[in-house]
Amino acid sequence: MNHSHDGEEPLITVLNMDGQQLTPCLPHRAWREVERSRAVWIDEQTIQLLYNPFLFRDYRKAALKRDHHTCLWCGRHATTVDHIIPSSKGGSDLPQNLIASCSECNTKRGNRSALSYLKENAHSVPNLMKLCWRIFLAKYRHRQMKKGTPE
Ligand SMILES: [Zn+2]
Repeated sequence: MNHSHDGEEPLITVLNMDGQQLTPCLPHRAWREVERSRAVWIDEQTIQLLYNPFLFRDYRKAALKRDHHTCLWCGRHATTVDHIIPSSKGGSDLPQNLIASCSECNTKRGNRSALSYLKENAHSVPNLMKLCWRIFLAKYRHRQMKKGTPE
């Protein structure tokens, strides 16, 4: 399907995770989403989002509530969520890939892998088992999603 747009650049069809069509977007937006590993190309004119733009706010809230608004890295009050597998590496926005984090830890970790950051900071992690388990689970689910294995 080719959505024409002023006879210039064709618009890109955008599908959400369930395959529903969202508002089409311009090619540069589509490329940006794909470069940030937030979407994949289905064909030359279609991308599928790997996150639900309407749900991310809810996922974030759910993750914060689940972790009692406590930073899993340092135990302080958390106001942000940290992606265990970074978005830039294809990590999802689902709660299973999110942990509550204070903004300081979130910024300090940046794009480093959760495991290597954990090794460096193990001394200040309040509940090591819990965090290790979360990282393990997120990695496991990530591999499953990549394979396209249904839950
Ligand atoms: Zn923290």
